[in-house]
Amino acid sequence: MTEWDKLIPKPESRFLRVKCLKCGNEQLVFSHATNKVVCNVCSEVLAEPGGGKAKIKGEIQAIFE
Ligand SMILES: [Zn+2]
Repeated sequence: MTEWDKLIPKPESRFLRVKCLKCGNEQLVFSHATNKVVCNVCSEVLAEPGGGKAKIKGEIQAIFE
């Protein structure tokens, strides 16, 4: 944690229910995931870290705050 990090307000984070476009499996993905998230069923990439907010690759079904 640097001084600069303390100055930036924490971005809103939430959980997203993301549907895999390949197999239709739905699973929860953290909106600010810092690691690549893959489908539990077919290993398709569902989210990639994107400098803060994760890039969601699947279809977002619901948002949990
Ligand atoms: Zn899948």
